[in-house]
Amino acid sequence: MSQSRDFGETYDVIIVGAGPAGMTAAMYAGRSMLRTIVLERGVSGGELLNTEIIEDYPGFEHIEGWDLAQKFESHAKKFGAEFVQETVLTLTKLTDGAFKGLFEAATESGNSYLARTAIVTSGGTPIKLNVPGELEYAGKGVSYCAICDGAFFKGHTLAVVGGGDAAVEESDFLTRYGQKVYLIHRREELRASKILQKRLFENPKIEVIWNSVVEKIEADEQGLVNNIVLRDVNTHAARNLAATGIFVFIGFRPNTGIIVGHVDHDEMGYVRTDMNMETSIKGLFAAGDVRVQLTRQITTAAGDGTTAAIAAEKYLAAMRRQGDEPEIVATGGYAV
Ligand code: NAP
Repeated sequence: MSQSRDFGETYDVIIVGAGPAGMTAAMYAGRSMLRTIVLERGVSGGELLNTEIIEDYPGFEHIEGWDLAQKFESHAKKFGAEFVQETVLTLTKLTDGAFKGLFEAATESGNSYLARTAIVTSGGTPIKLNVPGELEYAGKGVSYCAICDGAFFKGHTLAVVGGGDAAVEESDFLTRYGQKVYLIHRREELRASKILQKRLFENPKIEVIWNSVVEKIEADEQGLVNNIVLRDVNTHAARNLAATGIFVFIGFRPNTGIIVGHVDHDEMGYVRTDMNMETSIKGLFAAGDVRVQLTRQITTAAGDGTTAAIAAEKYLAAMRRQGDEPEIVATGGYAV
């Protein structure tokens, strides 16, 4: 049985996700006079909201992540991009029916948005340790966001897990609140950039626990974290760390579930694109943390977003020239 599904107007570009890649793409698409809609499940900013101070975005020697996110959003809106809070469940290129050739973003609230091209910029989600106590005590001492939760831990002894840029940078940030921060790393060498490492080693409130992994997170009778069981990977000896907060920064996975069934991707779910950010589906672009690439920086996300928007514009122009543009033959609902 078919049911009628409502949708609004048809756009030139649907952008899924309002992080640096999505908002830059929106700004460029808007400047190209494309009808642009950005669908974001939460507050605009993406990974910018997980970074307190940003020092590596050119032109801003020192800016709060929140502030930069606001600037990105207002800049994109200035050029006409529309922002709507929606959780996209699927993004599909329609292969038949009245809207053949258009992309449909179907959302959790039951809405459908249609566009001639789509750009996926939905970022990533933190990887979990998968140890006992982690999920149980999430929000009760286990956190994945220092800027969101750090202030709850004034005067506490804290642990940070990981050896990349995020772990090292956030360890430094957490010393604003914690009286002591232990950085737990599974090897004896950090992969974080040298400038961040230098800051870490110069901070007297931070101690690195090398060659160690978290085996278990324990809590008091109120369910608040009070101990972390560590295992030395060389000696196999266990030790207790009496920390009341544990911040996990061991990387993240791309949020590509809405398209991963249809497009070419790697074993981790990162989407493969060509140099124009186009995926294996014509007219579908991916930018920022969702795609296979060397690094994930604000600058690279913004660069990807720029390329994706310009490529989308060229794709639409070529379709128009060839007379291939998907035709809108009806409005106000269609059968699914
Ligand atoms: P990452 O660079 O992938 O580092 C993940 C860290 O977690 C690695 O040190 C890894 O150890 C460790 N790890 C992975 N799985 C683990 C497990 N199960 N148990 C214990 N440790 C585990 O991730 P990230 O730090 O989130 O950074 C992601 C990207 O964002 C990077 O490209 C980074 O440069 C960028 N970033 C940049 C900045 C900045 O420039 N300011 C800030 C944050 C993030 P091994 O080293 O042994 O593999």
